[in-house]
Amino acid sequence: MQALAASSYSNCMNFKHYPNRSAKLTKEFAEQEFAKLNARVEQAEQSDSPSAWLDLYRDWNSFSAYYAGEASRIGYAHAADMANKEWDEADRYFREQVNPAVEAGNAKLLDAFLQSRHKDAIGKHYGPYLIQALETSVEPQAPVNSDLRVHATDLVDQYEKLTSAGEVTVGGKTMTLSRARGLQSHQNAATRKEAWLAYRKWFLDHHDVIAGIFNQLVLLRDEMGRNLGHENYIPLGYLSMRRTDYGQEQAKAFRDSVRQYAVPILARLNAEQAEALGTETLLPWDVAYHPAFSLPTGIVPVETQLDNAQHLFDELSPRLAAHFTRMRNEGLIDLENRKGKRPGAFATMMPDEERMAILCNSTGDEGDVGTLIHEMGHAFQGWESQKIEAVDLRWPTSDGAEIHSMGMEFLALPRLTWFFKPEDAKKYRRHHIHDVINLMCYISVVDEFQHWVYENPNVTPVERDKAWVRIWDTYIPGIDFRGVEDYKYARWYAQGHIFATPFYYIDYAIAQTAAMQLGMMNEEDHEKALATYLRLCEIGGTLGILNIFKAAGLRSPFDPATMRDLMDWAAKEVGVEEMAEAG
Ligand SMILES: [Zn+2]
Repeated sequence: MQALAASSYSNCMNFKHYPNRSAKLTKEFAEQEFAKLNARVEQAEQSDSPSAWLDLYRDWNSFSAYYAGEASRIGYAHAADMANKEWDEADRYFREQVNPAVEAGNAKLLDAFLQSRHKDAIGKHYGPYLIQALETSVEPQAPVNSDLRVHATDLVDQYEKLTSAGEVTVGGKTMTLSRARGLQSHQNAATRKEAWLAYRKWFLDHHDVIAGIFNQLVLLRDEMGRNLGHENYIPLGYLSMRRTDYGQEQAKAFRDSVRQYAVPILARLNAEQAEALGTETLLPWDVAYHPAFSLPTGIVPVETQLDNAQHLFDELSPRLAAHFTRMRNEGLIDLENRKGKRPGAFATMMPDEERMAILCNSTGDEGDVGTLIHEMGHAFQGWESQKIEAVDLRWPTSDGAEIHSMGMEFLALPRLTWFFKPEDAKKYRRHHIHDVINLMCYISVVDEFQHWVYENPNVTPVERDKAWVRIWDTYIPGIDFRGVEDYKYARWYAQGHIFATPFYYIDYAIAQTAAMQLGMMNEEDHEKALATYLRLCEIGGTLGILNIFKAAGLRSPFDPATMRDLMDWAAKEVGVEEMAEAG
């Protein structure tokens, strides 16, 4: 699919926000608009009525919608083809010129807003969480770190370009890293081993350059944190994730609950998998393949995926399916993997057009189905949240946003016969719940690793690799890396979040506790689960994470009993209890 073309938005009439705009959002235009907005502060402040401030906020919000829309359109086109010079230049201009101007303008207005005597009136209009959310954005936009932020985005761009251009050879064929990753779940033992080794070796071959990029990122971020009076980057990292409801202690307690309730199940699952494979121990290249439930590669040809998803969504919810139809019609789904496309998958919002787009790297394998449904879950929330007036509240913090994506994966489970034969759909379900347990543990590795990294910013790359291995071993039992020890730490170099969005990872695990609750609810009462899902979509980002759980009637992720009960349920689903009984 063609990415959104530049010309289609410069003269398009669809803008619900900021229709009076220049053909391209320039640094000068942003500066000029913020000068106008800031010039209105004094009069608004002097007025006894909050109406001038409300108008000012509305116009500021409108500009934010324009800015976020431009960022999304450029980011989406750049990700679709990282080698395209025109989009590369647009992306660079945006990061290096526009972002600093907008952040400077925002910082000034934000300061005035948070000190305003009319602040509460605006909070009353948009909901009190707006003020909390805006308070978290003060430090991440602090002018003192403006240059460092630009430098950090350049480094992330370098990392993404390198991995999106990465190629390896498997079975005599040259392929992208995404494709080689897909082959790691191949039914043929020799193929998956070759793919696994080639994929990880690529990261070892590029170890020094990627470790160098990361080292610079860590030092930059550490400096940013200290510039704001923190001991290290971590508090600023939490604020950059807009966290209002929990800190490092709760995150640690959460990981402890994973260690207590999920890790023992994973140990049993890994032992059982080795047995099913007929090997003495579980070998790392076999992890992504389970003879009892992995489906053959190429089982869902890419060209069939959108039609099958359409049937599934039509059956699940006509209201949500209408969004999917519209995205297909308007070219807002970029599905297939190709060289030069940024690895991974994401959903993005263009609030000025009130539209959503998604990008995947589908290769025809079973994992594509979950990814497409996951990204559509984000898109559904995005479409449903367009009626929220404050742009800052349309997109929840990522621990809230991943509820919609992972929750949709659970709601879709009983309808996967649109993609698979009934017996394969059953296998998929088993595989999904196995993966959820696995992911809880892996996420904890990534989260604990990142805390360690920013607590110890001045260590060497080798020490970082050692820390990864040490933390890995506490959460991931029973995978035998003997003979390929270096390939163990190669894993974290492939985890883009660690580079691009520090501390964004435990969010998946927190959200998963809500998604699993939706899955359990769906088994007992489908209508109730769907209504809860729609309610979550409507809430969007208008509440902090714990209030999102509360408003949807879900148990808190930070209560260890929640993790215990969810893991009990998952253990039953994947048959760990019978394993225990059978000894
Ligand atoms: Zn997601």
